[in-house]
Amino acid sequence: MNIRNCKECGKLFQYDGISKLCYKCRKKDEEDFILVKEFLYENPKETITVVSEETGVSEDKILRYLREGKLEIVGENPGILLDCEICGKAIRTGRYCEKCAYDMERGFKSGFEKRENKKTIRTSSKEKMHIAQLKKKKK
Ligand SMILES: [Zn+2]
Ligand SMILES: [Zn+2]
Repeated sequence: MNIRNCKECGKLFQYDGISKLCYKCRKKDEEDFILVKEFLYENPKETITVVSEETGVSEDKILRYLREGKLEIVGENPGILLDCEICGKAIRTGRYCEKCAYDMERGFKSGFEKRENKKTIRTSSKEKMHIAQLKKKKK
């Protein structure tokens, strides 16, 4: 049995190899996501700060949804911008710009196992740093 600490609440749970959250937090995560999605649907031009205040979902979480490609920035929204993690170009969703994503995909074919890579990214602490940089830039 693979037992881990939930990334969100710290409780032990049975790791299924997919989510780093316990069942309860995962459910909450889904609910939060729906809140954010609905709010953004009605207010597509709001900044992450406003979205976070209005929905009660943390900015980090909203950024994570963007990184995971669950949310996409619609229209010109100067409040929410992500950087491509490779070249730093402004992107609307996910982790990489189209060009880098394309390059990576080609790279994957020559060896990398996609799932393996995902795991590394998820556990790296680099993501937090990236978000901190992102916040600074916003001001
Ligand atoms: Zn939890
Ligand atoms: Zn790029």
